Amino acid sequence: MEAREISVHCCIAGGGPAGMMLGFLLARAGVSVLVLEKHADFLRDFRGDTIHPSTLEIMHELGVLGEFLQRPHQEARTLSGQVGEESVEVANFTSLPTHCKFIAFMPQWDFLSFIAEHAQGYPSFRLEMQAEVDELIYDGGRVTGLRAKTPGGDLTVRADLVVGADGRHSTVREKAGLEVIDLGAPMDVLWMRLSRRPGDPGQTLGRFDAGRIFVMLNRGEYWQCAFVIPKGGFDDLRRRGLPAFRGEITRLAPYLHDRIDELSDWPDVKLLSVSVDRLRVWHRPGLLCIGDAAHAMSPVGGVGINLAIQDAVAAANILAAPLRHGGVSEDDIRAVQRRRELPTRATQAMQVFVQNRVIGRVLESTEKLSTPLVLRILRVIPFLTRIPARLIGLGFRPEHVKIPAAVS
Ligand SMILES: Cc1cc2nc3c(=O)[nH]c(=O)nc-3n(C[C@H](O)[C@H](O)[C@H](O)COP(=O)(O)OP(=O)(O)OC[C@H]3O[C@@H](n4cnc5c(N)ncnc54)[C@H](O)[C@@H]3O)c2cc1C
Repeated sequence: MEAREISVHCCIAGGGPAGMMLGFLLARAGVSVLVLEKHADFLRDFRGDTIHPSTLEIMHELGVLGEFLQRPHQEARTLSGQVGEESVEVANFTSLPTHCKFIAFMPQWDFLSFIAEHAQGYPSFRLEMQAEVDELIYDGGRVTGLRAKTPGGDLTVRADLVVGADGRHSTVREKAGLEVIDLGAPMDVLWMRLSRRPGDPGQTLGRFDAGRIFVMLNRGEYWQCAFVIPKGGFDDLRRRGLPAFRGEITRLAPYLHDRIDELSDWPDVKLLSVSVDRLRVWHRPGLLCIGDAAHAMSPVGGVGINLAIQDAVAAANILAAPLRHGGVSEDDIRAVQRRRELPTRATQAMQVFVQNRVIGRVLESTEKLSTPLVLRILRVIPFLTRIPARLIGLGFRPEHVKIPAAVS
């Protein structure tokens, strides 16, 4: 095993949506960039597969939207909620001022592979898989690089800027000693797949009943299902047994009874613990965190991937030129947090409100639910479904690609 050393303008820890998009944008702008991803591939299920209109607009700005939409995906133009027996349209994307007026559902590994393929077209882009970042290198108070473990031996990277895009259990933010503000979450989510059959509803649907929330995402041949449970409640659920759990699902969606046995054992049910937090300061000299590493997002609204990508676009807009000219300053790095903090705070405030005022209350309730006032209003004035559509589909302060591709 041989120790290696590489020098780049920018080294990104983590090849998720934030890291891959930032790597792509910087390489496109002529910045030498290395992305280190600890896994051997992008193939991990239940990482969130929603590509929102704001991200599709960025694909359009990058000139790759048509090609992207050739890849297998499903399109949701509306989202609905069902309380007891009553179904209400909650968000309608068809009036958004974007090229795509829908959420695209695409396996995240397909999305990341697409970005990687395009990034690899630029000579200054490099992606190294199975490279786990475990240490930062300092010179005085400034981060000047990092160390990673790879199958071929230890890798040392010297960089003008290190970006932590390594998700909500970020090693980079921990090693940088950045302070985390925990906003809390009252729930965890169980993910599973059940096949989709002719005659099933076509829509992506959230079902609410006393003590239970069940979300079904139409993935073509199967339903990707999320069963929301009180935080730490999985052991209790397992003690009650799999037949009881299957019964809870079929009570919420009776038409699933003919395939509920596809959940044959507990490994078919994946627990994803939910956390919502953010860093007080996203940076140090020579270092910046973006995406979940800077602000772990709740699954509420399915906006985490898109917020991570918005961070990447803002970071590339602000940092590409100084990085290319070898002079990224603390002010430049600070400007990224200044740009993205407000949309992050606003989105998390919305998520925490929904978690505590809707999800927490539904999970605690033991009596039959009545349709909440806000849903009754949406049913009477469907025009208002444009508001949640805008918040989910575009978010606060959508970013646009401002840096031209470098002439190679
Ligand atoms: C239950 C649940 C469901 C969700 N559903 C959705 C959804 O439907 N839609 C949505 O938009 N958002 C969803 N989210 C939120 C979403 O998953 C995140 O907000 C989003 O993935 C953040 O992207 P990221 O690139 O910042 O981080 P991540 O997607 O977490 O990517 C980080 C990457 O860094 C790698 N990595 C980690 N540590 C290291 C290291 N030391 N060295 C090298 N690489 C490393 C990881 O392997 C990973 O590939 C959900 C969250 C939860 C908890």
